[in-house]
Formats: sequence, structure tokens, C-alpha cells
Amino acid sequence: MPKPPPHVAVIGAGLVGTSCALWLQKKGFRVSLADGNEPGSMTSSGNACTIADYACIPVNHPGLIRRLPALIFSRNSPLSIHPWYAVTHFPWMLSFLRHCTRSEVNKTIRALGHLLRLTHDGLDPLIRLTHTEDLFETNGCMYVYESEQAFNLARRGNQARAEQGAAFTELDAPDIRDLEPNLKRPFAKGLMFQQARHVLNPRTLVQRFFQHFTGHHGRYLPDHAKGVTRNENGLQVHLCGGGEIAVDQVVISSGAFSKQVTGCGLENIPLDTERGYHIQYAGRQHLVNRPVAWAECGFYATPMDEGLRFAGTVEIAGLSPKKNPRHLDYLARKANAMLGLEMEPTTTWLGYRPTLPDALPVIGPGKNDEKIIHAFGHQHIGLTLAGITGKLVSELAAGEPPSANLKPFHPDRFRSG
Ligand SMILES: Cc1cc2nc3c(=O)[nH]c(=O)nc-3n(C[C@H](O)[C@H](O)[C@H](O)COP(=O)(O)OP(=O)(O)OC[C@H]3O[C@@H](n4cnc5c(N)ncnc54)[C@H](O)[C@@H]3O)c2cc1C
Repeated sequence: MPKPPPHVAVIGAGLVGTSCALWLQKKGFRVSLADGNEPGSMTSSGNACTIADYACIPVNHPGLIRRLPALIFSRNSPLSIHPWYAVTHFPWMLSFLRHCTRSEVNKTIRALGHLLRLTHDGLDPLIRLTHTEDLFETNGCMYVYESEQAFNLARRGNQARAEQGAAFTELDAPDIRDLEPNLKRPFAKGLMFQQARHVLNPRTLVQRFFQHFTGHHGRYLPDHAKGVTRNENGLQVHLCGGGEIAVDQVVISSGAFSKQVTGCGLENIPLDTERGYHIQYAGRQHLVNRPVAWAECGFYATPMDEGLRFAGTVEIAGLSPKKNPRHLDYLARKANAMLGLEMEPTTTWLGYRPTLPDALPVIGPGKNDEKIIHAFGHQHIGLTLAGITGKLVSELAAGEPPSANLKPFHPDRFRSG
């Protein structure tokens, strides 16, 4: 009797988990995917839909420290920090801000740039495998700056994008008007990432990944994992409903919730969340021709299959399910200023970007057990990086040399001493 292929449990079925599951399946593993929520229904459902292979500049950069007081105390700001959360999570806040130095940011840019250049190597095989080409549109992505001053302040960051291989052209006010004639506001400068594509609905993308997975002998466990233990036969995944499965390897891909899975050596990894919001206007997608990011305001207006989505902002306030009306109100005011949308949005949404203080994901074998592979912490670019993360995880599981240098993403990088 031939030996059955090794069995891997993937914990969490967002963009990252389903991409890992598909890549593992492609490599010939038996795969079980556990998630008590509907696959793709969490942070992966509500993002700004951009395949942002140019997005190597972290939120915590030198300019943030200078602007921090204005950003925190103004109602007209895309960033907020809950004071009580900041006090109770002071070490994480401090570490997040300590990574604003030029040298730390340069390290982050280089590491993200390396991974982002592999975006398409990870994503395109999955699109072909699952026949999801119809969910993508390639019409570029535009950044717009209201003031020349803001554009000039962003120059250094944009130069760094170019150094990391991002292709874009600069736009002046007349170019912006020609390309996006419905913008109500004069924008002085812009950038056009001509080759950029976006997905018409990220939730549908995960659902289609998931359908392909289950349609090709993938096993779905509709329950959350409580923890992982090891015995002489291998690893046991304990489900919250009392079930248990024996596997050879485990992948932790539960996004911002990853630390809730016990027994995986995650206790000391400083994973937290940058909450983000969207509001959506059904049937208004025709107002823009591509995702348009209002750079000073920290959000994208993205045309989707079901409407026009305004997605972005950052709130440091943990995993509580309570929406902050200030962020929703901010997005609604900006949507009106940008495109004359005076009506109430059709839907509002809150999501949890999984974020480490150095703005890099964790991709690699766990410190206690190399059979437990970590794959979380993709902050603002998890849609973009899910495919390449899946590819890297499948290479690690198969004992092959990974196709990226994983040192900057190692789970142990925050360990002192
Ligand atoms: C406003 C906003 C805009 C964004 N825009 C973009 C963008 O344009 N481009 C881009 O690339 N990225 C974008 N992102 C980031 C991107 O959405 C995230 O990085 C990505 O969705 C993270 O995916 P994930 O699979 O790690 O997490 P999730 O989608 O949160 O999935 C985690 C899954 O794990 C499950 N889970 C949790 N605990 C357990 C457990 N114990 N057992 C089993 N399962 C569990 C959850 O139910 C969930 O389904 C944006 C994010 C936000 C908030």
C-alpha cells in the first residue's frame, strides 16, 4: 500500500489561509481547512480590492511621528488611537512607533519590496487554477494629492517605491481630470500605477478559492481551532466544538486572531491589529474608472461589482467588534467631497488588519515546532501577498528551499537576546 500524502491543517480561511490551502493541495498534500466563520467573511471580505504590488511604504514611517498629535486629535484625520487601548497596550504602541526611524523603515521597505515583486508568482497560478480571471480588472490604480506640498512630502517614499521596482508615472491636474472626470475636487498631482489590477469582489474571490479547494478533495472543518498539541504520532488540532484531528503539519493563518490558537509558540509575537473601515454605495461604481486613492486622506475609492467602496483609515483599538462612528463619518464626508455622494452609504464595515510593529508579516516555521508554520500579519497588503505567502508556505511544508528570503519575516525576529 503506498503511504498517503502528509496531512496539513490550515487554521483560518481568509485570503491567506485559502491561498495556503490551494498551494499545499497543488503540491500534493492532504489538506484540512478549519474556520468557524464563513470562509472569506472577515478582513478579507471588506478591503480596498487592490493588488498593490507597489505598497512597500509602511504606515509607521518618519512622517508619522511629526504628524501624530494632529492626526490623533483631529476629527478630520484617517488615524485614531483609542487612549485606553494605548495605555493598556503600551509596549506594542512603543514598538510600533520605534519602527518609524529612517533605518527601520528602510529595512521594512526592502523586505516588503522583495516579497511584493513576487506577488504575481504567487497569485497568478491560483487565478488560473481556480478560473477566477473574470474577477480581476487591469485598469491601473491612481493616487491623487490635493496639494503640491503633500505630493512633495511623499516624494521620498515614491522614490523608494520606484527603487523597489514599482512602475508609475506622475500626473498633473489636467491628466487627473481627463482620466477621472467625475472627481469633484481639484487634485494638484497624482501617480498612475498603469499595470495595477484590482479584484471586483475579494469575498467572492475567497469563496471561489474555497469551492475549488473543497471540489478537489480538500476537507473543510467548520469550527475554530482552540489549540495544537503534540504527541508521539504527530500534531493534534483541537477544535472549539470538541473535535480533534491528527495531522503532520499545521499552518496558522487566522489573521489578526492568530494568537488565540494555543500551543503554537505565538505568545511572544507582538501581533496586534490596525482596524480599518469601509462604506459602500450600491450602483455607483461607474463614478471612477479604477481604484483612486486620496493620498492625504488614507483611503481608496474602488469600483467593484456591487458598488463603489471607500476603504481605508487606521484605528488602533484592538479586536473589539464595536465600530467607531468617527471613522464612518470621516469616510462619508470624504466620499461626498471627492465624488459628490450626499446620500447615506448602503453598507458600512469594520475589519482587522493583522499588524506587527515592523509592518512585516510572519512567514516561517514556529520556534517551538518547525511543523507549525506561521502565515499571518499581512497588515495593509494581505490581498496582494496572500498568493505568494501560500506558495512559500507550501515550499516550507515540502522541505524545499523557499523562493524568497524569509529571514526578515521569521517568527523569532522580536525575541530579545
Ligand atoms: C480597510 C482595509 C482595506 C484594505 N485594502 C487592501 C488592499 O487594497 N489590498 C491588499 O492587498 N490588502 C488590503 N487590506 C488588507 C487585507 O484585507 C488583509 O491583510 C487580509 O485580508 C488578511 O487576510 P487574512 O486571511 O490573514 O485574515 P482574515 O481575512 O481576517 O482571515 C482570518 C480567518 O481566520 C479565521 N479564524 C480566526 N480565529 C480562528 C481560529 N481560532 N480557528 C480557525 N479560524 C480562525 C477567521 O474566521 C477568518 O476567516 C485592507 C484591509 C482593510 C481593513
